Amino acid sequence: IINEVKLSFPAKSANESFARATVSAFCMQLDPTISQLADIKTSVSEAVTNCIVHGYKHQSGTIYINMKIVEPETLIVRIRDKGCGIEDIEKAMEPMFTTAGDERAGLGFAVMQSFMDSVRVSSTPSKGTTVTLKKRLSQDDN
Ligand code: ATP
Ligand code: MG
Repeated sequence: IINEVKLSFPAKSANESFARATVSAFCMQLDPTISQLADIKTSVSEAVTNCIVHGYKHQSGTIYINMKIVEPETLIVRIRDKGCGIEDIEKAMEPMFTTAGDERAGLGFAVMQSFMDSVRVSSTPSKGTTVTLKKRLSQDDN
């Protein structure tokens, strides 16, 4: 681990842009391209929105973010809630699967998977969910 920062904040929509900007600022030390930065911000937003909307169902709760830089030039962001958890992770990650009826597209995980190198989800019903996003930020392969 080259660098590591942890933060926690209330699960409020007002904090989504804060989370996105903080992760973005943290990964600047890897000198990302504009497009890599956009991918990271979007993925973090999707994961944080999921904590607020699904994990805590718009009720109060805390979101925990742990961001790390490891060799070689890789960003790892872990986003965790202590909300309702996910019954069937495989199903939840399928594109267009949503438990929110027609309010949502069910594309959050698909977006994260297309923008990051890897997306890992672990969850325990009624205990919470952890999403781990990983992306290598080398200048030649964006
Ligand atoms: P969209 O992201 O397009 O607005 P969505 O949030 O339903 O729609 P995904 O982000 O792909 O789609 O999530 C799929 C499903 O996984 C959600 O509908 C929800 O049931 C479940 N889920 C995702 N994140 C969490 C979480 N943190 N806690 C509990 N359930 C979650
Ligand atoms: Mg979502």
